[in-house]
Amino acid sequence: MKITCCRLCQSPRLRKVVDLGWHPLADTFLPADLQYGPETTYPLQLGQCDDCGHVATLYSVSAVDRYQKHEYSYDSSNSRVSIAHFKTFCDAVRRELAPAPDALVVDVGSNVGTLLAHFRDEGHARVMGVEPAANIAAIAEADGIPTINDFFGPAAAARILETAPVQVLLSANVVNHADDLPAVLRTADQVLAPDGSFVFEVPYLLELVQRTAFDTIYHEHVHYYGVKPLAACLARHGFGITRIDSLEYMCGSIRVYARRGVGMAPVVDAMVRAEELFGLYRPETWAAFMRRVLSTKLAVNEHLARIRADGGRIIGIGAATKGNTLLNYCRLDTDLIAYITDASPLKIGKCMPGSHIPIVSDDQIDGGVTHALILPWNIADFLKAKLAHLGLRFYVPQVDPHPATLPTRPTPSPTWNSSISIPRTATTAASSPT
Ligand SMILES: [Zn+2]
Repeated sequence: MKITCCRLCQSPRLRKVVDLGWHPLADTFLPADLQYGPETTYPLQLGQCDDCGHVATLYSVSAVDRYQKHEYSYDSSNSRVSIAHFKTFCDAVRRELAPAPDALVVDVGSNVGTLLAHFRDEGHARVMGVEPAANIAAIAEADGIPTINDFFGPAAAARILETAPVQVLLSANVVNHADDLPAVLRTADQVLAPDGSFVFEVPYLLELVQRTAFDTIYHEHVHYYGVKPLAACLARHGFGITRIDSLEYMCGSIRVYARRGVGMAPVVDAMVRAEELFGLYRPETWAAFMRRVLSTKLAVNEHLARIRADGGRIIGIGAATKGNTLLNYCRLDTDLIAYITDASPLKIGKCMPGSHIPIVSDDQIDGGVTHALILPWNIADFLKAKLAHLGLRFYVPQVDPHPATLPTRPTPSPTWNSSISIPRTATTAASSPT
């Protein structure tokens, strides 16, 4: 369904700023025999609201299609990086809000319960997840995390309130998936205790643009939040922001502490000023972004085709969702990439959507492989260290998308075997006390 109004302020003044062509759902990994039959693709475009500045997908895919039609494949307990991140999330919230041991802590989009398990391990007896994917909710329940298998809406709210009002409402990388943020805020308002807080993490739009992280754009990510439109929307629903932390997680995220009946902390103004100074709400910023995206596509194809022509054998590392946007936008398939390795049992044995590249386990890498394209570039250093013993040459196009701006042959590409660390973009004042 084509979106014609801003999802935050309802303005009809939407301007297309990103167009990545047609893509299948990036998080729906396919069975190896493609038994689902024809694959559905949707236009992957983002629009910016000329009134509030919010950026969101211009074509909506129903939440049922995204999370309940097929087996959902993201398991937050499968990555050591995620587990460690959720521990720091838990510690930060406990430090900032000091919830009582018997306070009800609820996680919206709780996945397999990784974040709530940390709270439970810290002595918080009353935790509850809300997770729409049935196969994922069942894993959480089996691990002893009470989980409502539903979307976060009036029905889930009623079930939560059978236990107690919520003191700490959490959400990690989920508020950007929800079609209707105002509806989420209304449900939050319904379940929160009078002094309860809503703490959520979302990828940060400014970082996406600065890092040209176009592969973090996919249909499951409906919203791309700048602080300016987000703060305005929260204020319209009676919430103030007491603190924002900038995080490296998910290619650059923000952790927002919101509460009803309070004003905005000074960090909000500081971050909005930084966004405006950068030009986040100006059309020419987005035109430049799209030029960089196209340039990356051309560079990736040039590199991989050259390796194949020279007799090299390439695999992909990490069947990350964001990898599917890169593969499908760049039109890569098994002619260039033999297979992709991953550690998740939910993905091994399946195929990547769109490109149909098979996924195998990390220990199935054959001796003929010469090069590895790392897809989850935010954990590239971790993956390089893990697979260093294989002697492969690694390529991380997202970290260095323009290697010497397409070197002329026979100059070797400087991206191979280079020691690359992810630059931390200097953006804004990171956090502010309440
Ligand atoms: Zn708007």
